[in-house]
Amino acid sequence: MNCPRCGAPSTVLSTRIQPASVARRRECFNLHRFTTHEVVPAVIDRRQLKATERGFAQRATAWMRRQIVLRSKEPVAVLARRLGITDARVRQIRARS
Ligand SMILES: [Zn+2]
Repeated sequence: MNCPRCGAPSTVLSTRIQPASVARRRECFNLHRFTTHEVVPAVIDRRQLKATERGFAQRATAWMRRQIVLRSKEPVAVLARRLGITDARVRQIRARS
């Protein structure tokens, strides 16, 4: 799992095993710490699972796009066209970092 702040690979510092999930405390090579959670799909309501998976996929796509925008030195218009988002959205992501 890569760091949500800098994208560097991470290692697991500790693992907490809970009845329906596993939480892992992680640290990236640049010493940023974050937590990940693993769940068995069966614990999620079956009717909500598809929506949850779509939600994860959307958030993951947005997150990846954000990482690309933050690391790219390309001009706003070029980057926006490549990622299929508006120039304003690229500027908004860059302004917040
Ligand atoms: Zn990091």
